Amino acid sequence: MVGFNTRAIHSVTLKEDVHHAIRQPIYSGVAFSFDSAEEQEEAFRGNRPSHMYSRISNPTVEEFENKLRSLEDGIGAIAVASGMAAISNVLITLLEAGDNIIASNALFGGTVSLLKNVLSPLGIEIRFVDLESLSATEAQIDERTRVIFFETIANPQMNVYDIARISQLAEKHHIVVVADSTVTTPYLFKAKSFGVNIVVHSTSKLISGGATSIGGAIVDMGNFDWTHIKKLAKYHRLKAWAFIAKLRKEVFRDLGACLSPHHAYLQSLGLETLSLRVDRSCQNTQQVADYLAGHPSVRQVNYPGLANSPYRSIAKAQFNDRFGSVLSFELADKANSFAFLNRLKIFKRATNLGDNTSLAVHPASTIFVDYSAEDRAAMKVSEGLIRLSVGIEDIEDILQDLEQAL
Ligand SMILES: *Cc1c(COP(=O)(O)O)cnc(C)c1O
Repeated sequence: MVGFNTRAIHSVTLKEDVHHAIRQPIYSGVAFSFDSAEEQEEAFRGNRPSHMYSRISNPTVEEFENKLRSLEDGIGAIAVASGMAAISNVLITLLEAGDNIIASNALFGGTVSLLKNVLSPLGIEIRFVDLESLSATEAQIDERTRVIFFETIANPQMNVYDIARISQLAEKHHIVVVADSTVTTPYLFKAKSFGVNIVVHSTSKLISGGATSIGGAIVDMGNFDWTHIKKLAKYHRLKAWAFIAKLRKEVFRDLGACLSPHHAYLQSLGLETLSLRVDRSCQNTQQVADYLAGHPSVRQVNYPGLANSPYRSIAKAQFNDRFGSVLSFELADKANSFAFLNRLKIFKRATNLGDNTSLAVHPASTIFVDYSAEDRAAMKVSEGLIRLSVGIEDIEDILQDLEQAL
């Protein structure tokens, strides 16, 4: 197999463009026609791969899906309208009333809300666990546990788990491991090598090429025996493809959160430069972390790349010798944090991450504003905590901006 960057650039398109365009055009239309009713019937019976209707599949979106599938070394990929659409499609496909899911206790706010406010009322039990403790995790598993869900590097505390060991535990109990690899992307995290079964991405972040568009993706690694999931019974005969088939033919098709062809085009373009941007932002982030760790006003820096981080060795082994482009650090209090944020000139005050531009946010008053003070304390989101997503600007300018703001 050719290398990561070659795969990110040379797509595996099914059909040659009629004009030999090097870049896949944007097919923004809704429907595709057939030469005969017979061909159309064959397509609808699933015996003839063709596009019919863009909510179900579309050539521009398919090119993006094929690239991502290849970069993840998976057997199937579905691009969706957002990262949240990716997570909800996966969980709705796997879980039914009476089942339970073990979820990391450090997750993206939207994911926590999906679990608590959308899935829990449907009769799915959510068991939040600190996945750093395998014994605590195993203690939560019973015969109705279907999924273990976590983020590869959780923010704002930047926790990293031993993913291979979580996968081993899950395999023993026939549980599906679903990893949200948004902050690591297939460039940093080879999910399949660590026993992950399903990867989800918010492609709005690093993959989009610089916060160009909202999108998401689901990739199946092809390494789970789906006969353990009764909800997929109708598709068990498709073996490794049972999960992707259920999604494509039912859940994804019927929930309707498809990726727009325009966004697929932007994100496919983003994939081509992914490794360059990620390398640069990881290098910049390491320098920012080292700088902040030596600054007298900074109480603590959370970044797995720091020499004293408890996560350094596991992160180094799991994430391609890099540590990501997000970090957090503690100032004295809210007033200090706000003063720092308001003085920033290059960093933008925004909740996003993985952009080309550097971003800063005060989690307690933004992402976590709806949580009680006790919940925030339990999640270690203090009033002095700042989260940075470091971009690809010149490092001298980034450090200079932090210096003057501190
Ligand atoms: C942003 C984000 C999401 C949600 O993605 P959207 O594209 O905004 O729906 C999910 N997980 C993580 C880790 C994220 O950073």
